[in-house]
Amino acid sequence: MKNPFESTILQLEEASKYLDIPNLVMSLLSKPERIIEVFLPLRLDNKELKIVKGYRVQYNSWRGPYKGGLRYHQKVDLNEVKALSLWMMIKNAVCDVPFGGGKGGIEIDPKTLSKTELKELTRLFAKMLTPNIGPTVDVPAPDVNTNAKILDWFVDQYEQNVKTQNSNVKFTELKAVATGKSIENGGSEGREEATGLGGYYVLEELIKKMGLKKPLTVAVQGFGNVGSHLAALLCQNGYKVVALSDSKGGIYDQSGDGFNIDLVKTCKLERGLIADCYCIGTVCDLAEKKKGEITNEDLLELPVDILVPAALENVITEKNADKIKAKIVFEMANGPTSLEGDKILHGRGIPVVPDVLANSGGVTVSYFEWYQNMHGEHWKLEEVKDKLKEKMTDAFKNVWNIHEEKKVDLRTGAYILALRRLHESYKKLNK
Ligand code: GLU
Repeated sequence: MKNPFESTILQLEEASKYLDIPNLVMSLLSKPERIIEVFLPLRLDNKELKIVKGYRVQYNSWRGPYKGGLRYHQKVDLNEVKALSLWMMIKNAVCDVPFGGGKGGIEIDPKTLSKTELKELTRLFAKMLTPNIGPTVDVPAPDVNTNAKILDWFVDQYEQNVKTQNSNVKFTELKAVATGKSIENGGSEGREEATGLGGYYVLEELIKKMGLKKPLTVAVQGFGNVGSHLAALLCQNGYKVVALSDSKGGIYDQSGDGFNIDLVKTCKLERGLIADCYCIGTVCDLAEKKKGEITNEDLLELPVDILVPAALENVITEKNADKIKAKIVFEMANGPTSLEGDKILHGRGIPVVPDVLANSGGVTVSYFEWYQNMHGEHWKLEEVKDKLKEKMTDAFKNVWNIHEEKKVDLRTGAYILALRRLHESYKKLNK
């Protein structure tokens, strides 16, 4: 089995056959421009020193500054960050924001750290990366296990470093070194829910094209920022979210009525586990509760209309792709389907809406945030939503048209669109 990075390169090469792209360009696109590896000396609360490994992969800058999130997870490694940065390059081209691709990560389980340790680790990372990032160089953002608070610390440290070196820099522009900040610290309205909202806009377009009628049943794997916002939006807009999970397990409503996401959110906050939230809003006994509990593996194989993997990579593989019963796989996580899994789903006629399209709402509003910081503006929520809707609808239509014209699956369609745009930028830069 190939790793996700190698698989994506193969998929890009497949897509390039539909275009006239010189070999040199394809070779350049198959390697990152720069890899930064850092070792962060974290002082723990008990005064012990722990050396923590971090990465930033600056994959490609033809279309603009490197752009992509920072992930804190115990499974982060260089191969994963490379794949994630490559997907960012493709995603940013698909949703047509003026950025290249990048991604960073720290190999740590942030749930094992105190708030002081988490802050210290983030500041150390920002210090190490300062010489290599900046509003027009490389612009990080949140990803798995990172949020506005962490990005605020990150930006604050960056600002301190830059100001001590050069007192003439413009304050508001410095904020554009990262996106996904809190509103008080230069963040954009709507950034937090943007990935979920963008996904919702794409899904609405897709079901129109496929002629599907609501109510449609949905299973969502992952209840972080992305999964929880999307699930809430779907629930408010005529879909039935019948299955949900977090990293520890999930719940399934066999009656098909679906869960009330607001209640699940409150319950998860109180009890910490989605698996404990089956009986909320109703009275049910232990036996019934047991019936409603499912594992993350079960969730993927449920008989639903739409399956939304919104957690981590590689959950749909050659091991389970032939057992998937959903009519649509909608990738809100980055890289949830392996190359082999993708081929099986394609062979079975199950459309897969690729991550680089489905979850590109996050980076789209990141672009809006960056733009507002660079121009000293602050847009209203409605304005952000309207602009996001337009961008997502355009991206969907462009991918859909290529898929129909060239008779390729949606992922190949998205990759063709991205390659075409990347090649254009390359030509402009090398005139
Ligand atoms: N981490 C998000 C993603 O994977 C957002 C990246 C960004 O906003 O730069 O798309």
